Formats: sequence, C-alpha cells, structure tokens
Amino acid sequence: MIEIKNVCVGYQDTEVLHDVSLSFEPGKVTVLLGPNGSGKSTLLKSVIRLISHTSGEILLDGQQIEELNAVSIAKKVSYIPQSRKTPDISVLRMVLHGRFAYLKYPRRYRPEDFEMGRKALQWVGIEDMAEKNVAKLSGGTQQKVYIAMALAQDTPTILMDEPTVYLDISHQLRMMKMARKLADQGKAVVMVLHDLAQAFQTADRVAVMSDGRIVACGEPEEVFQSGIINEVFGVTFERIYAKNGWKYFCE
Ligand code: ADP
Ligand code: MG
Repeated sequence: MIEIKNVCVGYQDTEVLHDVSLSFEPGKVTVLLGPNGSGKSTLLKSVIRLISHTSGEILLDGQQIEELNAVSIAKKVSYIPQSRKTPDISVLRMVLHGRFAYLKYPRRYRPEDFEMGRKALQWVGIEDMAEKNVAKLSGGTQQKVYIAMALAQDTPTILMDEPTVYLDISHQLRMMKMARKLADQGKAVVMVLHDLAQAFQTADRVAVMSDGRIVACGEPEEVFQSGIINEVFGVTFERIYAKNGWKYFCE
C-alpha cells in the first residue's frame, strides 16, 4: 500500500508536483491520466525515490520512504520506466535483474531466482526468447522483457509508466488483461496510459493529473460523469452501451 500525502516535487528550483495526495491500493488497478508534462512520470519516480519530494509524505506500508533503503524499496515496489537504455545482454539475464533485491553476498542467483525469472518470461509469453540479446529485439518485445523483469521482482506494488507504448493492439489488450490478473492476485497495479478507452475499461480507479496536480480521482464512472476528461484534454469523451458493457471513445 502506497500513500502519497500532500507531496510537492521539483526539479532544480521549479516545482512540478503541487500538493499531490493519492494512494495505490492492493487488489486495485489505478490508472494515471493526464496531458504530456502534467507530472505523471515525476509522480511515479518520487514513489521509488528516484526524485526526492520537498514536502509532504510518501508512505510504503506505513513507513516513510526516506527511512527505507534501496533494497527495502525494491522488495516493495517494482517500476517500469517510460524511457530507458536497453543493455546488451540476454533476455533471461535482464529479467534476473529483478531478483537483485533478494540476493545476499556474494550476490549469486539461486535456483529460486532462475525459477522466478522463467515464470515471469512465461507470464508475458516470451519464454522461448530467454537467450536472445535484448538490444536486438523489437520495441514491443523489449517492453515485454521489462514487464517480465518487474514481475520477477515479485513486489506487492507494480508501477508501469506507459507500458503499452511499442505494443501492437493485441498485446496492448493482453497488457490490460495482465494488469487485471495481477490486481486480482492482490497486487497494487499502477499504470500511466494515454488510451482513454483502455484506461476506463481496465481501471478500478482513475486519477487525472493536470499541471502537476491531481484534478480528479475516483471510480471510472464517477470520473467519467464529472466531465473532467473533456476539460483537461480538450476532447469530447463519450461512451455507448454494448452487450458486454460501456465502450468509450473520443471525438
Ligand atoms: P508526464 O509524465 O505527465 O508527461 P513529467 O513528469 O515527465 O510529465 O514532467 C512534468 C514536468 O516536469 C514537465 O514540465 C517537465 O518538463 C518537467 N521535467 C520532467 N523531467 C525533468 C527533468 N529531469 N528536469 C527538469 N524538468 C523536468
Ligand atoms: Mg511521462
């Protein structure tokens, strides 16, 4: 469980997150929405202390994040960044990086780490690619490697910054199903998404950011009814009822 309370964050002298309060709860998919530059990535980075907050509190299972060391944070929260450099190593080696927090000196992988790594590869459907070089894979497959690495980390909370980027539509939909399955297993799943329809169909909670503030947060129905999406994105966000539920679209 992650609680963000009245948090402000800045780069150099410029504050970019203003008085943000939000929680990421076990068993729930929370989707963060907001225009480019609204602070979504900054918020996720502050939750794993890649950036320090200047005021407010960030609590991981009730403990202040500044009191936890990197290993303790890594056992609680996994994070898939929006942009990154892809290393020149095999898929399995890369996924095993997710196990670092569990290794004791002399940092040798144990059989259970390999087992967890292989399971994570199976989860995302790339178990046959274990020995391939990550740097030479397509963007979509690299994305799956990052997801597998986060799953191998086996944390109660998983933060994913734009996980569907690079994925074709069928894999985007699989990603949404995977998010649901992870939440059903009890994890707190957090995703930054740009596809409003996918967001509203998958999320248990939608948080909308604009200019470094949370301007709406609640169940999809509540956020939809509020009209905030139209205001923040300057679009007309609509839905129609189909036989298996609401279908959302933008005009
Ligand atoms: P989002 O993920 O919603 O697109 P970001 O969190 O990346 O937004 O950015 C929020 C604001 O912080 C933007 O104004 C952006 O220009 C600024 N920002 C992001 N990263 C840095 C950085 N490393 N240094 C200075 N400003 C940054
Ligand atoms: Mg971002």
